[in-house]
Amino acid sequence: MNKAAGAAQREKGSNSLSRNQAIVFDALKREGNPMKAYALLERVKDEGVRAPMTVYRALSDLMDMGLVYKLDTTKAYSVTSPSASDIPVFLVCDTCGNSRMIGSEKLEEAARESALENGFYVDRLRIEVTGYCCNKSA
Ligand SMILES: [Zn+2]
Repeated sequence: MNKAAGAAQREKGSNSLSRNQAIVFDALKREGNPMKAYALLERVKDEGVRAPMTVYRALSDLMDMGLVYKLDTTKAYSVTSPSASDIPVFLVCDTCGNSRMIGSEKLEEAARESALENGFYVDRLRIEVTGYCCNKSA
């Protein structure tokens, strides 16, 4: 699927998803924060999606549609923000591997301005930040 189709799909939301895609997407949306595939599999088991391949295929389709994003750092999956102007910032903990998604207008503006200063227009932007979420002694 090309970028324009992905954007159109985002506009439509999750209305045109297959059953399995919808189950996986809804589970990720309910969670809010990024999830690893095996945790997601546990979550959707009760809804009848039991095969890991089914989950991976649904995730792959959802990524093609621009609805789901896979974090480079932890390989966890997250829903992307519903509106294209809302840029997700993922905070990834180096200690425990947890990650969560926040919105940050400041970071978004800074990234867009820096790109523009270099003659580059940002289409879609995601930011992954690594660090510590918890007590370093833990
Ligand atoms: Zn942590």
